Amino acid sequence: MQYDIIIGLEIHVQLNTKSKMFCRCANLNEDVNKEPNSTVCPICLGHPGTLPVANKQAIEWTILTGLALNCKVNSYSKFDRKHYFYPDLPKAYQISQYDLPLVYGGQLEVDGRKIDITRIHLEEDAGKLTHPKGKNYSLADYNRASSPLMELVTEPVIKTAAEAKKFCQQYQQILRYLEISEADIEKGQMRCEANISLQEPKKWKYKGGCKIEPAGGYKLNPKVEIKNIGSFKALEKAIEFEIKRQAEALDNKETLAQETRGWDENNQKTVSQRSKEEAQEYRYFPDPDISPININSKWLKKILADLPELPREKRERFKQQYGFSDYDAEVLTADKNIANYVEQVISELRAWMNALGRPWETAHRKLAKLTGNWVGTELFKYLNEGGQNIKKIKITPENFAEFISLIYEEKINSSAAQIIFKEIFTKGGDPGDIMEAKSLEQMDDDNELEKIIKDIIKNNSKAVSEYKAGKENAVQFLVGQVMAGTKGKANPQRAKELILKNIK
Ligand SMILES: [Zn+2]
Repeated sequence: MQYDIIIGLEIHVQLNTKSKMFCRCANLNEDVNKEPNSTVCPICLGHPGTLPVANKQAIEWTILTGLALNCKVNSYSKFDRKHYFYPDLPKAYQISQYDLPLVYGGQLEVDGRKIDITRIHLEEDAGKLTHPKGKNYSLADYNRASSPLMELVTEPVIKTAAEAKKFCQQYQQILRYLEISEADIEKGQMRCEANISLQEPKKWKYKGGCKIEPAGGYKLNPKVEIKNIGSFKALEKAIEFEIKRQAEALDNKETLAQETRGWDENNQKTVSQRSKEEAQEYRYFPDPDISPININSKWLKKILADLPELPREKRERFKQQYGFSDYDAEVLTADKNIANYVEQVISELRAWMNALGRPWETAHRKLAKLTGNWVGTELFKYLNEGGQNIKKIKITPENFAEFISLIYEEKINSSAAQIIFKEIFTKGGDPGDIMEAKSLEQMDDDNELEKIIKDIIKNNSKAVSEYKAGKENAVQFLVGQVMAGTKGKANPQRAKELILKNIK
């Protein structure tokens, strides 16, 4: 049977603030190997009589995220206590936001489909428990306790595993553009949870507010939450697995449980963690220790001023302004720092072309294509191999622009370009100087080239007669001989033309 697939997401993100959410302890953001319980204080350990003070930066960044996603901002917001007992939560309640999140509504467009966002709120993270093997105790580390955590909740309007994955990837890209979180899912800085149910077509209605309702006498199938997802790939696989599992169970008339399931990466399947038959009672109530937040238009204006150009806008501008293709625009703007670098290269290229007396308007599409190709293939390859950051590379935008113009002007062929690129990536330097020092300049003297070609034709009569007998690729062998004879400096295209001319 075909079912309607109903997916919603909950995404927690650690914010890059200097200090924790309600105290002055440093916010370590997972990637520092600090000694356990070395970054704690009476406030984040929940000692009686301590007073939490909300981190203003975290509040502003949550609002900024909301503005980037077209959310509405609550002019009056507050923090609430969410009660549950677990050893990683020293106060036995978590400070979160219940009915008045900082922002609500909004959308993120994924492949032309607008995915509705329910809300984005701010809360505090829990500590970390480890369970040493073979021991009858667990260890608690509160370094992470009370770090700021921003939670985004979507409406259950996502229809496929691929769409869910893309939503999370695009959200990550926006957070990185805003420079408020690295949002690295492998490092736990971004934690994606999906809820999934399968319903029979036309027997249910979307109600809003994260809810669906049955139509007629239909009984809704239960919703399953998946946790413990360590990568975007795992998210997609876990959802795909769950859709298949639920569909098979429903086809076999089995009853599905409302439950939380974890993704088991080793066995590539979801496993039941706990049943959610009864909704947990968190006894939410406003935190009496923290003042409510009044967000007036003056404050909002100040936050709005920090909103940068977002990935979607940058993609469009790259196409319009520089003539990049859809594909190149997407690849080059995926990372804001790469995009900035490319813009500097383009600006230098324009200066180079002006200096050479080439009108930019006629050259810019071809130059954009060349730049897109070299950044998207070779530069990315070298950056990945060395695990390097674009901000620290040795090729300056000026050198990169000169390198592109050498190719554009046909001063070097592609094999010479590879040699020069490797040199400027590993050591830096001026591409023109390297070209001269290594005498990599492409031969542009046809007479000289033709002389070499005549010799090669004379010495390779077998290949020549094979070509004449109809073996087309014999000519490639001859081009190879010319390239070897010129130490790679000939233009292979021109060499081929001259060979064909001289064979006749
Ligand atoms: Zn603290």
